[in-house]
Amino acid sequence: MDDLSRFCCLNSQCLQYGERDAGNLTVSHRYGPDRAKRMLRCRACKARFSERKGTPLFGSHLPPEKALSVLHHIAEGNGIRKTGRLVGVNRETVARYGKKAGAHAAGLHDELVAVSPSDL
Ligand SMILES: [Zn+2]
Repeated sequence: MDDLSRFCCLNSQCLQYGERDAGNLTVSHRYGPDRAKRMLRCRACKARFSERKGTPLFGSHLPPEKALSVLHHIAEGNGIRKTGRLVGVNRETVARYGKKAGAHAAGLHDELVAVSPSDL
């Protein structure tokens, strides 16, 4: 059984949009090399979307280990050229992943700040 508790419907018109662990998602099929990625389906609105949609890995062509290594090197403060040399990818690829991860991190930050307790 797939653990889908961290996922939510991404259709902004859906009644269960953004509700994690609402029990409305199922795995409709798997795709990609080794069928490692899951295609999710919302029972409420019938929308289908990749489990990677909305993440820095959406549309990634690098193997997951290599993509995560790129992001790890960036998070540790390595430069784009240095990260490219260490991981073995083009510096443009490193820059693209950095931009996607940065936008994702900014969105996550805004979501977390919105629900954090206020200072007294
Ligand atoms: Zn939905």
